This record gives sequence, structure tokens and C-alpha cells, in this order.
Amino acid sequence: MIIHEDKINQIFSTAKPDKEEVDSILAKSIRSLERLSLKEVATLLKVSDPELNQKIFDTALKIKELIYGNRIVFFAPLYISNYCNNNCLYCAFRQGNSISRKALNKSEILNETEALLKQGHKRVLLVAGESYHSQHGLDYILKAIDTIYNAKAGSHSIKRINVNIAPLEVAEFRKLKEKDIGTYQIFQETYHRATYKQVHLSGTKSNYDYRLEAIDRAFEAGFDDVGLGVLYGLADWKFETMALIEHIEHLESKFGIGPHTISVPRIEQATGAPYTENIPHKVSDSDFKKLVAVLRLAVPYTGIILSTRESPLIRRELLKLGISQISAGSRTNPGGYGKTDESIGEQFSLGDHRSLDEVVYDLLEMNFLPSFCTACYRLGRTGLDFMEYARPGDIRKKCEPNGLITFREYLNDFATLKTKESGEKKIQEWISDYDDPKVKNRINKYFRCIDAGQRDIFI
Ligand code: SAM
Ligand code: SF4
Repeated sequence: MIIHEDKINQIFSTAKPDKEEVDSILAKSIRSLERLSLKEVATLLKVSDPELNQKIFDTALKIKELIYGNRIVFFAPLYISNYCNNNCLYCAFRQGNSISRKALNKSEILNETEALLKQGHKRVLLVAGESYHSQHGLDYILKAIDTIYNAKAGSHSIKRINVNIAPLEVAEFRKLKEKDIGTYQIFQETYHRATYKQVHLSGTKSNYDYRLEAIDRAFEAGFDDVGLGVLYGLADWKFETMALIEHIEHLESKFGIGPHTISVPRIEQATGAPYTENIPHKVSDSDFKKLVAVLRLAVPYTGIILSTRESPLIRRELLKLGISQISAGSRTNPGGYGKTDESIGEQFSLGDHRSLDEVVYDLLEMNFLPSFCTACYRLGRTGLDFMEYARPGDIRKKCEPNGLITFREYLNDFATLKTKESGEKKIQEWISDYDDPKVKNRINKYFRCIDAGQRDIFI
């Protein structure tokens, strides 16, 4: 058994969020930058005193700055098919829902990818419904990965494909791994077994354990880069957050490594999806901020992903609490970027409709560095290697320069004039902050190469 509800409830009910205890957890977490225990997480989740909560937020920001600096990594979801055999009551793609269905063909996938490349994206998250049909099953997805990697817009191509698809068998995971994908992502949706049963009416996904054990099978197949997540709103958010940590404890003890990323979607409005009309455990904005901050403290080296489900306002606030990856300019209907057919059903409504360029500009205003870097994955710095490597000192020597180099490329090739001017100014400010003249000179040398037309430089 991976998730023990009784144990979680018992730890939660006995945790005492008094000031001394909370202070000592926060001091430990910033000192050691190590994962917190279930009891420590429960203690932080139970804090209600506004002053103590502010301390949690402040410490989360410090940890984020130590590990990630001011970089925010961009990605775009690429929905290739909305055919689905499952019946998840929160999703518009569910089998029982009558929406216009589509599995993009090769030229439509190329069209989508080119549209994303022209915006400046380098990293996509391939998303699909779960179909048992031979025309939109695993083989279809594997071919789609090849198509996306082979797409070109001028000298630009997609450098990393992460994948969010239904759980596979070990042998199938091996086939997926052979395609050189980045992260395999899967959200348990809810760790609460009874709720899980109520919302997943039919299809393979109605099997809680099969889904929960998917990451174990992915590791057995050789993956070392996986992403977990909870669909917040189905069950109590504090329980879900504790259970997520218990899932991570399980992975660490069995495989010696936890997830590379955690996603924190909140349920959004979706056509024909009853659980989006009346969300049973709706998470307020303030609780949402709290859970992101607690996750930042609990698993300092795990990236936290936020999508365009959320509004610009809440996205801005969460960036300061622990989010390290965001999407921008997203569409959740297959064909949405290349405008294949506007009548094709989307998965859920978006909260942020801004273009990538507008989001980039906004990040600059907040002094964040928009990064399009994919170096770690391409240099094999994944899994345990990534954890070893992602120590604060090394990040400043490699990740920040890589972020700056990829951002310079973005500014030269894709930015509007307004973003370019703001970006150039920021770049000069950031470079002048470097104490080590060698690193400074190196970055400036790479900038000259980019200005001379060289592309795809990373260290
Ligand atoms: N079909 C596969 C599955 O369910 O695992 C993978 C893709 S599914 C489209 C990706 C994720 O979208 C789901 O895991 C779920 O968390 C999220 N999702 C579904 N409906 C949503 C909604 N109404 N609001 C926000 N996220 C939603
Ligand atoms: Fe299908 Fe995934 Fe939507 Fe469930 S969440 S209905 S499995 S696409």
C-alpha cells in the first residue's frame, strides 16, 4: 500500500502548529534544503496564525531564490487528441460527453508545433485523452512525438517533450522512454480513495491502484524523470497535500528518487463536466497560496508547475511562493494553435489568455528571468544527477547563464519591441550583478555568438 489514509489523518490530528515548532521547521528547512517529513508538513498546513503563515511564505520565497534564482521556465501544452474511454466527471473529454472529437493527423501536429515554435516555445507538454482505439492509442502518441521533434520553424525546433498521458504497462513505458521524452507526468487527481471512486465512473482510470502504481512502473521501465500532481478541489486540500508527500516518501524509499516536478491544477470550468459546476472542496486563493508555499518547503528540489488554468493575478502571487515552471499562450483543444477547427472541444476553460510575449513582459516587470533552457535534460542531468547538480552554487554557474542565453535568443527572434527593450535592460542589470568576471565574460561571449546568428547554445 502506498497511501495510508489512517496514518495521514492520525499525523494530521496530532500535529501542533505552535510558534516554536513552526520556527524550528522553517529554520531546519532553509538550513538543510531537505525534504520535510509528513509530520512537519502537517504542522505547517495546520498553521492559521497570520504572522506564522507570513513566515512560511517568506521562507518559501527564500528557498525558491536559493535553488532556482529568479528563473521561470516556460512550456506549452500540446493537445493532440480528445478521444477518451474514461469518464472523469470533471473533464470535458470524458466518454459520456458529447463534444466534437479529433485526433490530429501528422500534418496537423506539424502545424501545431510550428505555431508554437513561432511564438518562441522550445518545450512542450504533449497531452491526450486515453483511447484504446488503435488510431489514437499508444502507437499514435509515439508517432506524434517523432513528428513534434522533427518539426522546424526556421532554425528552431522543440528541444524537450514532456508527456501527460494515461498510465502504461512497464513494456509500454519502455517504448515511451525510447522516444527520448523529458518528464512523464501523471496526476493521481485525488489520493482519497472513496472520492476517487465517485468521480471516475468507468474505463481503466476507475482503478485507483493501477493509476497510483503508474510511477513505480515508469521507474521500473527506466524513467528517472517523472511528474506528480493533484487535481485540487475533489477532496480536502490538506489531505491531498499530505498524501502527495506520502507518495513521494514511497518513491524515495523504493527508488532512491522523488518526482522532478509537481503540478497543482485546480478544477476549472469544463463543458459537460458536473464536478466543475459544483466543486466539492473548492480551494480558495489563500489556501492555494499556502499549499504552494508548503510544497516549496517540503520538497525544495522539485519543480512546481502552474498552468494557464489560473488567472494572471494569482499566477503573479504564486511565482513569489514557489512556482518554477509556467505555461503561456495555451490552448486545450486539439488544433487550437494552428486553428485546425475551432469547433473541436477544449478540455477546460483557461484563466490566463495572454500571449507568451505578454507573459514574458510581465515576468520582467517582476524581475523574473524567462528561461527557455532545456540543457539539463539534453546533457543527461536528470534524476539523481539533477538533484546532485541542482545545488545553489552550481545553479548560478550554469542554470542562470543558460537561462540568460536562451532568453537572449528569444528576445532576438520572437519578442515584440516593447518586450525586447525591457528584456535588454534587465539582462544588463542581471549581468552586472555577477561578481565572477569569468562568468560575466563567458555570458557576454555567448551573447555575441547569438547576435551573430548562432542558435541553441547551452553549457
Ligand atoms: N487523459 C490522461 C489522464 O487523465 O491522465 C492525461 C491527460 S488529462 C487531459 C490531463 C489532466 O487534466 C488530468 O490529469 C486532470 O488533472 C486535468 N484536468 C481534467 N479536467 C480538468 C478541469 N476541469 N480543470 C482542470 N484540470 C483538469
Ligand atoms: Fe479522459 Fe484524462 Fe479527461 Fe479523464 S482527465 S476524461 S482520462 S482526458
